Amino acid sequence: MEPVNGECTKKAYESRLEARTALLLMWKKGRPERASYRCSDCGAWHLTKKRRRAP
Ligand SMILES: [Zn+2]
Repeated sequence: MEPVNGECTKKAYESRLEARTALLLMWKKGRPERASYRCSDCGAWHLTKKRRRAP
């Protein structure tokens, strides 16, 4: 089971811009992260390797 409440174990970014900047850095490093998204659990932004799926 994954934790629903509380803090995420993923690295959190405070803003969309911060997440995008980190994402660009990942790409430069050749990392597989593909997109940034706002987390509904902690309210912060994370990076994901998965493509964003339409809700
Ligand atoms: Zn989160």
